[in-house]
Amino acid sequence: MNILTFDIEDWFHILEHPTTRMEEDWGAFESRLPDMLERILDLLEEKSFKGTFFVLGWIARQHPHSIRQIAARGHEVASHSDLHQLVYEQGPLAFQKDVEQSVQTLEDIVGEKVRAFRAPGFSITAREPWAFEILAEAGIEIDCSIFPARRAHGGFPNFGASEPALIETHGHAIKEFPMNTSRFLWFSFVFSGGGYFRLFPHEMLRFLTNRANYVMTYFHLRDFDPDQPVVPSLSPWRRFKSYYGLGRALPKLTRLLDEFPFVSLYEAEALVPWDRVRRVRLA
Ligand SMILES: [Zn+2]
Repeated sequence: MNILTFDIEDWFHILEHPTTRMEEDWGAFESRLPDMLERILDLLEEKSFKGTFFVLGWIARQHPHSIRQIAARGHEVASHSDLHQLVYEQGPLAFQKDVEQSVQTLEDIVGEKVRAFRAPGFSITAREPWAFEILAEAGIEIDCSIFPARRAHGGFPNFGASEPALIETHGHAIKEFPMNTSRFLWFSFVFSGGGYFRLFPHEMLRFLTNRANYVMTYFHLRDFDPDQPVVPSLSPWRRFKSYYGLGRALPKLTRLLDEFPFVSLYEAEALVPWDRVRRVRLA
């Protein structure tokens, strides 16, 4: 099962960087979203695949027409939070307010129920079990925030197998579709989006996709945009990680869409035998 998802934010939504962290900073940057989103929607239409788009509430308020296009062209609109803050920094009250604002905004603009969520930077860790209760109370039925390995913004290394599971917390159950990790010797990595997708040659991506039973992709529009401005004052390492391989990413995605079947999140949900998956109880 290969699941096609995109996190819909702009090129300047870089986490944990002093000039791009807060809403007040974002007004200074010019958006590249409408054109890039249209390119992706055209590609999916050409290949006849449906995808799931995790959209920031803030983005939906800036570009309501573009976000309505996602749904109008047959794809699923889900939430990527409202203001792209790290959950483990927010705490329960701020997280709840942010999730509610995002769901409300997206439902008002798109006119459909928002059923799925992905946290910015996969920032729900083992220390934030309350996040799932808040999500369930906001009407979220499916979560895609778990990164079952170590990473810069959180990670949930003890989650267990990278496959769909039911998370149970205080009377609620949430369907979890975690990221899928691959292993090379002692090194765990995710190839289905972000830096490694841009870094690895196509043959390697094809090999890894072929080998996996379950692939959860997470693409960003900026992964495919070689003409985007560069966020000022990034460290050389983050600059490399953020901008390497931009020109080759769209041709690589196009080839993968030719070589493998992909489904959207809700299509995947219908394929999973939920009464038989692993149950994860979080206090
Ligand atoms: Zn994001």
